[in-house]
Amino acid sequence: MLTVKDLSKSQLEGKRVYVRVDFNVPQKEGVIRDTNRIKAALPTINDLTAKGARVILMSHLGKINWKEPDAAKIEEMKKENDMTPVAKALQELVPDTKVHFCPLTHGPELKKAVDELKNGEILLVQNTRYEKGEEKNDPKLAAEWAALADVFVMDAFGSAHRAHASTVGVPTILKAEGKIVAEGYLMIKEVDNLTKCVRPTASDRPYVAILGGFKVSDKIKVIETLLKKCDKLLIGGAMAYTFKKALGMKTGNSPVEDDQLDYAKRCYEEAKGRIILPIDSVVTDSFDPKPDRQIKTIKGDIPDGFQGVDIGPETRELYKAEIRKAKLIFWNGPMGVFEQPEFQEGTKAICEAIREIKGKAFTVCGGGDSASAVKQFGYKTDFSHVSTGGGASLEMIENDGHLPGVDVLA
Ligand code: AMP
Repeated sequence: MLTVKDLSKSQLEGKRVYVRVDFNVPQKEGVIRDTNRIKAALPTINDLTAKGARVILMSHLGKINWKEPDAAKIEEMKKENDMTPVAKALQELVPDTKVHFCPLTHGPELKKAVDELKNGEILLVQNTRYEKGEEKNDPKLAAEWAALADVFVMDAFGSAHRAHASTVGVPTILKAEGKIVAEGYLMIKEVDNLTKCVRPTASDRPYVAILGGFKVSDKIKVIETLLKKCDKLLIGGAMAYTFKKALGMKTGNSPVEDDQLDYAKRCYEEAKGRIILPIDSVVTDSFDPKPDRQIKTIKGDIPDGFQGVDIGPETRELYKAEIRKAKLIFWNGPMGVFEQPEFQEGTKAICEAIREIKGKAFTVCGGGDSASAVKQFGYKTDFSHVSTGGGASLEMIENDGHLPGVDVLA
């Protein structure tokens, strides 16, 4: 697969380079809370501008519900997800490079903005989801965008699991026209690091996978794929209670997916001891943090009126011991309701054990809520890799290393 590293100045100078980035930053009313996603794309952007490319950046931002029948509401959603503040933030991050912004996603104004772009300059285009055809990979839309570009670079790992017009439609057309399509630096890093979890080698044993989060049903495929690859699978979070109930334990008011009980039982039995479940839990009688709620540690059955909200102290020690032995770790999903300080200990224990094996094992946090927790608790530099894409990293594991936004570049 071609990468931006391989592209020379003579291949790029004066060329219109369409870069699909992931600028889906957390923001509210035009205030960006975290510019990390913009910063993550800078190695690619700076390399291209330094080589004299005319850089066109495309990204989605937030969600626009096109099924909404009220046109005024759609306009409101568009306003909430306007890219103008992102263009300003990008300009501050690249003070020596001119950043232009095109408020439209199609038509003559967009074409004019691209035509007027000078070598080494950047044009950020409005939110790709302003187009109804984006998520449907509409061929007409993809053709209009593809006509703006001489080269395509994919650097939006967080969107690589989505076959949309901006991620798959455009490179498909450009490739068929014999134009250059390549991976950006963020993509290279993400794909290389996650591939280690997809294809473990003999020296990666024991390979310990850790899954948490809310629903078993969201993670069925990833559980099955991981069980084919890893030596141990540690389960935490709300999904642990579906497994516990399936094995005959009482789970009180814990969130359980009753329609997944048969699956969980079969999966546990087929794993023949490789799935490790919590042996104790932190439970509460109220999810709402009201001052008089009860919080306690329970081993065994959870009484009615209480729900499990974190792994307990004995489980923390058990999971830490498994992690200390590992040579390769893939982790997705918090061990408890980490948003509430009382229920953070389980998720922190995983981070702590990973800090202990820093330099001795390859450790990957697969994005999403667990990546937010890792950053919030100050453990980011202890991991070999913290992915920028929750959905994309899970799908990459599930699909044996394949993602539509990556495969299209091959
Ligand atoms: P997911 O998106 O599936 O990774 O789930 C993450 C969410 O699961 C977070 O918001 C956690 O607060 C939540 N979560 C984790 N453990 C529990 C639990 N025991 N009970 C309720 N919610 C949980």
